[in-house]
Amino acid sequence: MPQINLTELAEQSFGTSLEQLDDRRIYKLLVKLVQERSATCPLNNGKKKLYYISAEFLIGKLLINNMIDLGIYDEVKDQLTAAGHDLNKIEEFEVEPSLGNGGLGRLAACFLDSIATLGLTGDGVGLNYHYGLFRQRFVDNQQKAVPDEWLGEQDILVDDDHSYTVEFGDFAVTSKLVNIDVPGYGQSTKNRLRLFDLASVDDGLVPGSSIDFDKTEIAKNLTLFLYPDDSDEQGRLLRIYQEYFMVSNAAQLLIDEAVERGSNLHDLADYAVVQINDTHPTMVIPELIRLLTTEHGIEFDEAVTIVRSMVAYTNHTILAEALEKWPLASLQKVSPAIADIIVKLDEIAKAEHDDPRVAIIDKHDTVHMAHMDIHFGFSINGVAALHTKILEDTELHPFYEIYPEKFSNKTNGITFRRWVHGANPALASLLDDVIGTDWRSTGDLSKLANFADDKDVLERLAATKVEAKAIMRQFMALEQGVTIPSNAIIDVQVKRIHEYKRQQMLALYIIWKYLDIKNGNRPKHPVTIIFGGKAAPAYTIAQDIIHLILTLSQWIANDPDVAPYLQVVMIENYNVTAAERVIPAADISEQISLASKEASGTSNMKFMLNGALTLCTLDGANVEIAELVGDENIYTFGASSKQVEQLYADGTYNAGALYRKPGIKLLVDFITNPAFMATGNAERLQRLHDDIKGKDWFMALLDIEEYIQTKERVLADYEDQDTWMRKALINIANAGTFSSDRTISQYNDEIWHLN
Ligand SMILES: *Cc1c(COP(=O)(O)O)cnc(C)c1O
Repeated sequence: MPQINLTELAEQSFGTSLEQLDDRRIYKLLVKLVQERSATCPLNNGKKKLYYISAEFLIGKLLINNMIDLGIYDEVKDQLTAAGHDLNKIEEFEVEPSLGNGGLGRLAACFLDSIATLGLTGDGVGLNYHYGLFRQRFVDNQQKAVPDEWLGEQDILVDDDHSYTVEFGDFAVTSKLVNIDVPGYGQSTKNRLRLFDLASVDDGLVPGSSIDFDKTEIAKNLTLFLYPDDSDEQGRLLRIYQEYFMVSNAAQLLIDEAVERGSNLHDLADYAVVQINDTHPTMVIPELIRLLTTEHGIEFDEAVTIVRSMVAYTNHTILAEALEKWPLASLQKVSPAIADIIVKLDEIAKAEHDDPRVAIIDKHDTVHMAHMDIHFGFSINGVAALHTKILEDTELHPFYEIYPEKFSNKTNGITFRRWVHGANPALASLLDDVIGTDWRSTGDLSKLANFADDKDVLERLAATKVEAKAIMRQFMALEQGVTIPSNAIIDVQVKRIHEYKRQQMLALYIIWKYLDIKNGNRPKHPVTIIFGGKAAPAYTIAQDIIHLILTLSQWIANDPDVAPYLQVVMIENYNVTAAERVIPAADISEQISLASKEASGTSNMKFMLNGALTLCTLDGANVEIAELVGDENIYTFGASSKQVEQLYADGTYNAGALYRKPGIKLLVDFITNPAFMATGNAERLQRLHDDIKGKDWFMALLDIEEYIQTKERVLADYEDQDTWMRKALINIANAGTFSSDRTISQYNDEIWHLN
């Protein structure tokens, strides 16, 4: 590849020197550079190809990531720095694509990066949402959801001339396809993310500032939003239309490409493998069968056999409400042909296994999508050791008895390119200095452990934290309008707002800490507690939790006795860009879900990799982090997943009894203290108070006392910086396991068998 000379490019493109060029024009210059480099990379072209189908790809901004993957980042950065420019400022001109929502979508994005980095032939397939999930605004300390317009200004979509007809029950639509290049780190080849859109989509259906739109005009609205509000019948039906549109396009593309590469379709499984990311793409199973039989003359039984050997499913949750179940009648309305095939598949499954617990269609004519995946896929995996164990032992136990060989664990991972090289350059260069640069390709950080008692290395590690905090504080000041003290302990819980993740428990801790400071116990360092996350628009209690956090934030900021010692910040519109700024700066990683409820988590891995200490329940991948780093380098608390499962099974959890303990009552009742309530929305605060007191389905009151004690121990330990930095170093040294390159190697060796 030719050397990069930005000075020359600046002269050629704009007739001015690099020093003189403004950030916007530099941004344009870099976009063009990346596009040109990426365009010259040939596609990976193995015989067998992976199709990673997902409703979400939370890819984040791509400019810096692609420069890293294309191997030009350091050169570009050095030349810009020499000319007096700051890459972080230049990156502000890039819009973050709005194609995902939370951990599952971010996982899909990390996976695409690793698939390309390992040189495997595999594309992502999804939808091109015009307004994403939504953009989060805070108005009167409440979440307001507005359309996230990102398509207008993006520079990443490349047109593709594939177009398909998708037939629904009473009408048909035409699709169009756009691609996003996915170069691999250290590779000269690339893959792509394929995003289908509706040729007839009408942006005019979304009027300005509201995410409400006419849900009935399917042929015009199908790709406007990710997860349109499904709290009503129309919304649920639209979701099914979307899913079928996604998988019909994916299946048609897959067959076209396999034929192009020489498949006679009887041998399709030698040419393609499908990973179904959560249940949203499940209808790809009947759709492939439909296409093979009706369009390509293959007998039904053979088509079933083919599909059964090429489809694999990843389960991401054990929360019952998230395992999709659709009324058969709804599927019939969306696609009678698909509903017919599902009925036949259900008959086959029932003939093979006469057990209502594993039926695809239950006695209420409800279709269990995950059941179809397990019967008609060759693989099902969980996403962390504990999660897979729970699937095997309880949630999906009847299936595990039938198909033990189909089950496996693939603990999630994260791409180090984005979460260290890009997000924490100071740490990346320290690692280069201390353990050499091999870690950049191998992900192996274990040599760092040899320096656990090296005072110089520990001091330099502390300095990288200071640098990351400076970047975070600048982001908070410019983008969020908040000033964070430079000496504050940074304590972070960033993730979707959900009761099981228990942001409400951290809010109760904040109340405790507030009262403790009021009583004169002033912390040695100020503590800044940072939240970030969106709540589903129809999820009332989650909105109430956001309101409590924002109201507390304001209440504390206005109290001169406490404000110098405690600060609560909630990031508006938490997304990948915010994560990249905040996670490297964190001292404490809050992973406090109710044990058994968080399948894996991936932010826990990002924090660990960036040298934060984890404060956690033994849930999801926290269990694996704890095993790796050892008890003395992590802070665990709370009921075990076994205890929690027992409480649910017995139905003996009693929030009211715990609430009556004086120490707990004081905290919960603060929410409805008249003076506090007067500063917020009384209805929201009252509802949340009553919910915690009367129901507390995710048992915040069960763990709150131990949580407070443990957190106080963490804060006290922070005062011994030598020991603290040693713990941080041990965490980083053990984070190599959580590279998504490791995860993808396992998927490939044990499931996909590409190349
Ligand atoms: C990593 C990530 C998540 C997932 O966080 P969890 O704590 O694992 O739920 C969600 N959103 C963004 C923007 C992320 O980067």
